[in-house]
Amino acid sequence: MRNGLIRFLKMRVVTVDCNSCGAPLQVGAKTRFVTCRYCSKRLSIQHSESAVYTEVLDDIKELTDKISQDMEVIKLQNQVEQLDLEWMLQRESFMITSKNGGEHLPTTGSHMVGGIFPAVFGVIWIGFAASMGAPGVFPLFGIVFIAFALFSTVSLPGKVKGYQNAHTRHQTYRRQLQLRLRQE
Ligand SMILES: [Zn+2]
Repeated sequence: MRNGLIRFLKMRVVTVDCNSCGAPLQVGAKTRFVTCRYCSKRLSIQHSESAVYTEVLDDIKELTDKISQDMEVIKLQNQVEQLDLEWMLQRESFMITSKNGGEHLPTTGSHMVGGIFPAVFGVIWIGFAASMGAPGVFPLFGIVFIAFALFSTVSLPGKVKGYQNAHTRHQTYRRQLQLRLRQE
């Protein structure tokens, strides 16, 4: 009875050497993982056709952790690059072409000049045309200028706001990515 029990157990128990300290370990025939009683290393038990052996799990884990960490860094760096590229394109769409052909970003200052100038010009024009006794179509030009001034005063703050919002969004997201990069 007792011998039978031992035989029964032996069929299900294999001896493997710890890959770290070399100590013999009895493990179940189908056991996949074991912690060495002597050196406390976590081991993975490899069942090949001809042999059963152990691999130190911590080393494998460390290596895969390192690889996945590197991958994460590369991924984050790519994301920052992509974000900057998208921002450059987005920034371009906010650009205002000035009269001399140059491009600039919408600012509150440029909107003031862009609005006040035609308005003042329009008022002077109307006054001038009226004092000259010019036909009705001439003072109307002044109204066109004032209308343009009003339009740019109304539309530009929207652009300024849109640009500033987009810029803030970009900066916030970029900062988050950089923060995660530093943590890696
Ligand atoms: Zn060991």
